[in-house]
Amino acid sequence: MNQPATSGSDPVRITFLGGLGEIGRNCAALETRGRIVVLDCGQMFAGDDLPGVDAVLPDLDWLFERGDRVDAVIATHAHEDHIGALPYLLTHLSLPIFGSPFTLGMIEHKLREADLLDRADLRKVSDGDRLDIGPFDCEFLPVTHSIPSGNITAFHTDQGVILHSSDFKLDLTPVDGRRTDLSRIGALAAGPGIRLLLCDSTNADRPGSSRSEREVGAVLAALLRENEGRRVVVASFASHIHRLQQIADAAIATGRVVVTLGLSMRRNVKLARDVGILRIPDHAIRDIEDIDDIEPERVCVICTGSQGEPRAALTQMAMGESRWLELDGDDTVIFSSHPIPGNEAARSTSTRRATASNRSCARCTRWRCRSGSSPCTANTPTSWPIATWPARWGWRTTTWCCARTATRWSSRPTGSPIWVRSAGITSTSTGWSAISATRC
Ligand SMILES: [Zn+2]
Repeated sequence: MNQPATSGSDPVRITFLGGLGEIGRNCAALETRGRIVVLDCGQMFAGDDLPGVDAVLPDLDWLFERGDRVDAVIATHAHEDHIGALPYLLTHLSLPIFGSPFTLGMIEHKLREADLLDRADLRKVSDGDRLDIGPFDCEFLPVTHSIPSGNITAFHTDQGVILHSSDFKLDLTPVDGRRTDLSRIGALAAGPGIRLLLCDSTNADRPGSSRSEREVGAVLAALLRENEGRRVVVASFASHIHRLQQIADAAIATGRVVVTLGLSMRRNVKLARDVGILRIPDHAIRDIEDIDDIEPERVCVICTGSQGEPRAALTQMAMGESRWLELDGDDTVIFSSHPIPGNEAARSTSTRRATASNRSCARCTRWRCRSGSSPCTANTPTSWPIATWPARWGWRTTTWCCARTATRWSSRPTGSPIWVRSAGITSTSTGWSAISATRC
């Protein structure tokens, strides 16, 4: 890398208002010549250790105290930990916000919900654009991540180039073909030089490299083929448009129609289709209101709740509280996401509830025989193997149930009562896991 040339005329100050050493509430203020540009403004979700708290915000007071010097916000991508605090910022400041069309679409919805749309001037940037934003000469480059249309920002300053990587997952074969512009980064490094690299990515400290998102498509397609004749419900992040694309492609290839469930899932799918980054033909997508008109084996429901969020669609289904869909023993549920660090317990609870909702009893033949109150309790062992996955899944486990978590009971052809029918979790390094309730 060349030594960056610096004129040294105007210093640049960077103040981090959140996001360092933590996952969430990313926000930084870049300052030169007395003017400030904000880079991302995200929130952190409050955990169980903060009861009653809706969101954890960056130090916005720092910005409010300097409000007359803040020129704009740059939104690098549309994850909540990068845009979730914008409504709080805009309650006090009125600013232009720069971002890609998809990112701005997500922000627009958020601001409309908060009745703050008139406080922001949304300005679209395209890959390769170079714009003056406040006192900064900003260049926007594409970057691959688990949400589409993210941007690297190169700030060309008197102190040299400051490169902000945004969140990234380097993927040389991205689903949408939009690759990270590594060649331009190389040219900046070889040309003016990069004075400062601001770089952060979850799991960056783990050795090795990530597989391409494209590889998940083959796994999804195989899962849907294996579950032919059954209704399939896939839970994923509503913002992971590339994953949704692959789920939809697999569904369509196996003769299914896509049905979206969950407010954010429906909204994001519509936005992504509107801006042309999610391709699902009209004939292959139906409203959830129509689900009773479609044969179950022709349905692939894509829903929210992959993290066990309490109000998400899958959680409601698992609790038997969904107004649209009730899971039964002929359904297969696929979790197409890793748990975000911190969400493991919620997801595990959701999984347990989903499998527990699929119980039937060989003894009384009642579907959803609730142990503890059913006639079968006396015959139910307090511990019993409920899930044994074949070795081909990559690992094999036996889970023990108690009466509260019994899954599905069935009979061998001889009629002798026997256990288990499946229900378990498996995960692979390609980023999916599945539970299913299958017939013997
Ligand atoms: Zn992100």
